[in-house]
Amino acid sequence: MPTYTLKQASDLLHSKKISAVELAQEYLNAINRDNPAINAYITLNPEQTLAEARVADERIAAGQAHVLTGVPLAVKDLFCQTGWRSACSSKMLDNFISPYTATVVQNLLNAGMVTLGRTNMDEFAMGSTTEHSFYGATKNPFNHNHVSGGSSGGSAAVIAARLAPAALGSDTGGSVRQPASHCGITGIKPTYGTVSRFGMVAYASSFDQAGAMAQTAEDCALLLNTMASFDERDSTSLAREQEDYTRDLNQPLKGLKVGLPKEYFTEHNSTDVQAALNQTIELLKQQGAQLVDVSLPQTELSIPAYYVLTSAEASTNLSRYDGVRYGHRAAKFDSLEEMYSNTRAEGFGSEVKRRIMIGTYVLSHGYYDAYYLKAQKLRRLVADDFQAALTQCDVILAPNAPTTAPKLGTLNQDPVQAYLSDIYTIAVNLAGLPAISLPAGFGADGLPIGVQLIGNYFNEAKILGAAHQMQLNSDWHTKTPA
Ligand code: GLN
Repeated sequence: MPTYTLKQASDLLHSKKISAVELAQEYLNAINRDNPAINAYITLNPEQTLAEARVADERIAAGQAHVLTGVPLAVKDLFCQTGWRSACSSKMLDNFISPYTATVVQNLLNAGMVTLGRTNMDEFAMGSTTEHSFYGATKNPFNHNHVSGGSSGGSAAVIAARLAPAALGSDTGGSVRQPASHCGITGIKPTYGTVSRFGMVAYASSFDQAGAMAQTAEDCALLLNTMASFDERDSTSLAREQEDYTRDLNQPLKGLKVGLPKEYFTEHNSTDVQAALNQTIELLKQQGAQLVDVSLPQTELSIPAYYVLTSAEASTNLSRYDGVRYGHRAAKFDSLEEMYSNTRAEGFGSEVKRRIMIGTYVLSHGYYDAYYLKAQKLRRLVADDFQAALTQCDVILAPNAPTTAPKLGTLNQDPVQAYLSDIYTIAVNLAGLPAISLPAGFGADGLPIGVQLIGNYFNEAKILGAAHQMQLNSDWHTKTPA
């Protein structure tokens, strides 16, 4: 099993101890052996992978390598990529080979990364377990009876199972951080607007943001350096100077003010999650960080606000899947109207349909003010909460989920229960803030537990630095499934 971090893989490649082709082949062999048991990759194309690796080797030989050149990468199925089926784990796009490539993927390919394959996710990124995938759920590498989290559960699982050193995920309401937490890896969701959304299949456009997933915070910083860019093809892309996200990695924790929001430290957390948080607090104290109590009073209201707004945006974004231009089209229909309805009835899974119905309802005449507008106002209050808290501290410490990864087949029995489990991740997306999840312990069930560090806008380097320092002083991120 190849166990390299991204940094280690990069060092081996650039000191010519291993070639990109050898490295890719090593991962492909491991994928062949271990992926069937966990269903984390849903599309592979070894010929394409090895062709990309050969190009990377030529670049390294010519002395033109970027730090990422030749490093293998797993891509969440939601990013369009030329030549690859880009299905967003939906029957609707099961036959869709993308004619263009998402900017964030292109940035990584330009740096010379090598695509290993496409990873499983909840259909259209709606969910917290990958059980809403058309291709079946991804199993947690630490225990195959449990989910890997979601929606980027495939990306988290391939890193945990050491079937890729790094992966792309996306985070609309926690989909990078929660699966990272459930699979014992590290994942960062940057400030909204930092990474281009061009070519990312849209779920809720004012929330969606691509994120980096890897074993370590250092690796995430290296990925983000290349992922982030201004893109005029994304109207919410931010025109900012390119920054070096590794710049604070050596910044000691001494003096860092860490806020503990009282609404996140309640009896809703399992004892195991609370223990991991307490352990993290001890680690931070030992390293000289200062803990301060803060409050995020609108925490509970972030759930209805999030599900009203994201469903509203989803209902309009998904109206494009009508069987006319691309994707699935029903085989039988007698009228245009029936072609639309049969196509959508067949192509979407039940969770996607539920959200389209909620979204259509809250946007409909007579309900718009009561739901959509109210939720927008709440969104502002949630964002204001964070600004108030962040005047008292540099970063906020939080859990990712109230429990470890649930057993397969349990969480989605009650959709409302599933939505409630997102309580600790979605407020960050309502506000558009950056947050990182890093491994911080294990539950009695042997499943990983992660904690989040939330920063203010554009403070990615700060939270990456703090996470890196924590990883220099702990070893949770090195643990692999038995
Ligand atoms: N679980 C949340 C949802 O279902 C978050 C998903 C995401 O971040 N893509 O909407």
